[in-house]
Amino acid sequence: MPELPEVETIARGLANAVVGKTIGTVTVSMAKIAVSVSGRTFAADLPGDTIVAVGRRAKFIVIALASGRRLTVHLRLTGRLIYQPAGPREPYPYTHISIDFTDGTRVMFADIRQFGRMRLLEPEEVWDADGGIEPLSEGFTCELFLSMLDGRRTPIKGFLLDQSRIAGVGNIYACEALWEAGIRPNRPAHKVSKPARRRLHSAIRGVLARSIEARGTSVDDYVDAEGLKGGFQNQLSVYGRLGQPCPRCGKPIVRTVISQRGTWWCRNCQK
Ligand SMILES: [Zn+2]
Repeated sequence: MPELPEVETIARGLANAVVGKTIGTVTVSMAKIAVSVSGRTFAADLPGDTIVAVGRRAKFIVIALASGRRLTVHLRLTGRLIYQPAGPREPYPYTHISIDFTDGTRVMFADIRQFGRMRLLEPEEVWDADGGIEPLSEGFTCELFLSMLDGRRTPIKGFLLDQSRIAGVGNIYACEALWEAGIRPNRPAHKVSKPARRRLHSAIRGVLARSIEARGTSVDDYVDAEGLKGGFQNQLSVYGRLGQPCPRCGKPIVRTVISQRGTWWCRNCQK
């Protein structure tokens, strides 16, 4: 599933490609993917509106329209948001929504497993993803993170995956940050020492920033808005590296299941 760096990369790519463009026609070939609480239909209601910004909140891409409405996109497991330049329409596999702009360019929502959703929010509609704090925001201070772990008996890995606390960190970056900070993934959160919490706060921000720099991690289906793979899969230290040497100590990486998720870590240097 795309996590914060992948969604951020897609949003930045789309922002460059479509801000200022006016929607000409919208084609929806799978109704369940185009969600609208008001009952309005994408094909009837979106044409004529203009895209004023594209951003990210948690794992959602947020497309702001001149009318004050927003389109939020969650890619879930296999969703893709693909931009196509003007020219003959190139069929893209498993396209369920096509937004065609008046200049001949288009954005397509494709999803082989159909769990992804594009949602139309009315201007007054309240929406805040899953509520967790953005880990790259100024508000996510070391002091705040230190206090967030107090009294939390859940394994630290499970805590990092809880989208209602920290937004956008999924399995890949939880594994990588815990390795970087030298913390055993199943250590109860409240038992992580103060110095280790500080290292983890820094590691979370560091690994997310480095992955954005590399345009995300392509270990599954993720591609950016141009349909290209990211590069951070070549910089992973533990995720998916069962049996390979730990980059720090050389001992083999192990895989266990923590918080129902496969977890890769080093028994020797994560305590
Ligand atoms: Zn190690």
